[in-house]
Formats: sequence, structure tokens, C-alpha cells
Amino acid sequence: MATIPVLPDALSPAARAFCERDHGLLIAGEFVPAADGATFETRDPATGNAIAAVAQAGAADVDAAVAAARAAFAPAAPWRTMPAAGRSAAIWKLADLLEQHADELAQLESLDNGKPVKFARHVDVASSVAHLRYFAGWPTKIEGATLPISAPNVHAYTRQVPVGVCGQIIPWNFPLLMAAWKIAPALAAGCTIVLKPAEQTPLTALRLGELALEAGIPPGVLNVLTGDGATGAALVEHPDVDKIAFTGSTAVGREIGAVAGRGLKRVTLELGGKSPNIILPDADVEAAVKGSFAGLYFNSGQACNAASRLMIPEPMFDEVVGALAQAAEATVTGPGLAPDTFVGPLVSAEQHERVSGFIASGRDEAQLVAGGATTLEGHAGGYFVEPTLFTTSDDDARIVREEIFGPVLVAQPYDSLEEVAERANAGEYGLAAGVWTRDVSNAHRLASLLRAGSVYVNCWSVGDPSAPFGGFKSSGIGREHGREGLSAYLENTSVFVQL
Ligand code: ADP
Repeated sequence: MATIPVLPDALSPAARAFCERDHGLLIAGEFVPAADGATFETRDPATGNAIAAVAQAGAADVDAAVAAARAAFAPAAPWRTMPAAGRSAAIWKLADLLEQHADELAQLESLDNGKPVKFARHVDVASSVAHLRYFAGWPTKIEGATLPISAPNVHAYTRQVPVGVCGQIIPWNFPLLMAAWKIAPALAAGCTIVLKPAEQTPLTALRLGELALEAGIPPGVLNVLTGDGATGAALVEHPDVDKIAFTGSTAVGREIGAVAGRGLKRVTLELGGKSPNIILPDADVEAAVKGSFAGLYFNSGQACNAASRLMIPEPMFDEVVGALAQAAEATVTGPGLAPDTFVGPLVSAEQHERVSGFIASGRDEAQLVAGGATTLEGHAGGYFVEPTLFTTSDDDARIVREEIFGPVLVAQPYDSLEEVAERANAGEYGLAAGVWTRDVSNAHRLASLLRAGSVYVNCWSVGDPSAPFGGFKSSGIGREHGREGLSAYLENTSVFVQL
């Protein structure tokens, strides 16, 4: 039975009004209930209270949304006949609308996900706008080539055409930003979309869908289905979906890759990580501590590229660990909507239980240096975990090998550069890695040795819509952002004309 939503007082009238509305599925430009009337509740991670009920899409709704996306992709449909400059203008307009509604979107994101509202505003919403604007520039630059082929009197050229109907499945850690990462290149390429937000954080994707219509993106081009893993699975299995783009756990990514492979669908997967962050003996220690701290505890450690495994030269180990422990103790943990919060609650009860399990195994297999509490005084019902720091030299420890996806940092000592590179590369993942050094040759040397999709030198998590992002090994397949990210939404046709 549905519970009565409880909305915090700090919520603005606009965000409150959005929460209080009925939330349908966006199919063919209309918000409609699920075919079987099913709904589910989304919760405030700071209290555990329900904040809104949204539609739970089933197989019939997936069929309807895919059919709408297919109809919007028909050769004579408005989206396909619109000039490239028209697509640019519509994507740019959507970015403008996000900017106009930035405070409301940031509040909704903070309420639904738990993240600090200031970061939601200045990272999530701002980066979503930047992403849309970057890709708004692309439609008028998608060019083919003329080919100097050997056959006589044949004019040969290539056309770069949209891949078709795209199923896009996104996670809960950066809900709006992940939606922007997915839809921006797909729209730029001229594709149509069925977007499936995570069940923990459905709200901003629904608002995004509404704003896309307001921006003049024709009905059916962007469909939004709220639902769970079964909804996502139905989308991946649907025979009329041409491409799947997924960001989420490695376990689900493997499953999706297998199903998409059988269906010969195009697929890009952005999955988990356990990213090594290496401080070299000549590093600016203060900058390294500050950057390493934010690299992990930002977003409560719920980032696929979190700097979760810190590697420190043995002689500096106690100094760096001491400074990090001090920073952890001074950090403000609290509800996302509170202005001073740096570490918000985890997204869900399930995630809270998972991270608590890692802290329990850390207590057995490593030394706890800071944090470790999985409740916050005065916030019973919230999914809080204190910033936690463990140390261990055991590379086989579970907290060293596995992705925790919470505010839990593991620090390890090392002796030499070659040794640390080898140990850093030994894991299952290859999403990101970091190096802190004042020595430019060591910086480039490590950047060439580390098997990771992004290497950060004297920083962490700098990114840009133009810079390819993705992982080696179990961190995924393909790259998002930039020209490479756009290519994932294009097919090539080679045309031969006998003259
Ligand atoms: P997490 O474990 O961090 O919640 P998941 O990988 O389970 O991350 O979820 C990421 C996204 O994938 C969510 O939108 C979720 O609903 C969806 N999802 C989960 N299981 C499946 C599946 N088997 N097929 C397709 N999508 C799925």
C-alpha cells in the first residue's frame, strides 16, 4: 500500500510542486500511467520517507515506448526531416531550459539521491548543461568522406547515419548528469531514445523529459520509462532496439552485454571501478591529501571513478594517513538539503547495507583509522555512513579488490614506482587512476604504465564533454563524450555510384 509522501521543509515551491504531481511514463510525448497501473515509491535517503510515487513500466510499456521511438525515427518523421541545424537548436534550447530550472533540478536531485544540493547545482546540473551544449555543436559537423577507390568511374562516398532506436539505462549516482551524458550524443546523431532511469532516483529524468518537449524535441524522440531492473531487461531484450547504452554495475553490465550480443545490438557499457590513486615521494603533500580526500568522499564515494584505493610511499604513510583521518573527522555529514553538508546519505537502504557489510569486512581484514559509523545521531531512518578510512598492505583484502561505492577509503603503502604500477594494474577494473607528483617525467611514465581509461595527474575527476570517458577491462566497453562518444550513435554507409 502506498504511504503518504513526506517532503522536507527546505524544499522550494517549484521542487515541491513537481514532487506532488502525478508521475506518468513519457511515451510519444504524453505522460501516461503504466498499462497495468503499477507504481513504486521513491524515497528521501536522509529520512527513508517516501517522497513521490512514480509509474512502474512493464513489458507492455516498453513495447509502447519502443514503438513510439521507432515511429519518431521513420524517414518522414519530423526529427528525421529536421535539418541538422534544427537538432542543434533544440539541444541548445534544452540546455537553456535546464539552466533556467537549475535550482529546482538541483533540489529534486538532492532530495531523491541524497547528495549535497550545492554539488547537485554546481556539478550535476552545470555539467549536464555543458554536456548538452557541447553536443548541440555536433549535428552540423557530422560529415562523411569521398573515397579515392580503384574502380574506374565510380564515385564513392560515406554517410554517417544515426544508429536508430537507443535504449539507455542509467544509474542513481548522478541521475540527471548520466541522463545528459546518454541523451546528448544520441540526439546529436539523430537517434530516438527510450531512457530508463534508476528506480532509486527517477525524478529528474521525468523533469528532463518534460523540458525536452518544451525545447521542441518532437514527441517520441525522447521517451522516459521509470521502472526497475526488469524494465531495463525488457528494453535490452526488445528486438526493435538498435543500440543499448548502459551505465551501472559490472554484474548487470555483463548480463546486458551478453543479451545485447545475442541480439547483435550495438552496445556501450560504463561499469565499475576500483581506482588506484598514487602519491609519489615528491608530491605536494597538502594538495595530494586534499585532492585524494575529495576524489573519494565526493558524492559519498558513489562514483564509478572514485579514488578508492590510495597508494602512499612507505616513508610518508603515517603523515598522509594522519592528515586524511583528520580531514575525515572534520567533514560534515548530513542531509543533502542542509547547506553545510559535504557527505550526504547513501542513496538507499540496500546500498547502506552493502557498504556497512564492507565496513564490517574491513574491520576484520584491515586497520580502521577513521569513521566506521553507519548511523548519524539525530537522523534515524536516514542511510548515513561516516567518512571511513582503512589501511592495509594486503592486496587480496576484499576492501582493496572490490568496488565499495561508499565513503570508504583504503590506503596502502608501497616501495617503488615499478612495484606500485604493477599492483595498481593487477585489479579487475581499469576506469581511472591518479598520480600526485612534481616530477613531469614520472607523471608521464606512470600515465603510460597505468591501464585505465582516465589518468589524473595532480587532480582527480577533471572531465569534459570533449574528453573520452570509459574503461579498460571489467570497467566497460566503448567511450562516452567527444567524437568517440558521438560515433557510438552513428553507423557508416558506403555509397558507390557508377558514373
Ligand atoms: P546498482 O547495483 O548500483 O543499483 P545496477 O547496475 O543494478 O546498479 O543498476 C543500474 C541501472 O540498471 C538501473 O537503472 C537498474 O534499474 C538497471 N538494471 C538493473 N538490472 C538490470 C538488468 N538485468 N537489465 C537491464 N537493466 C538493469
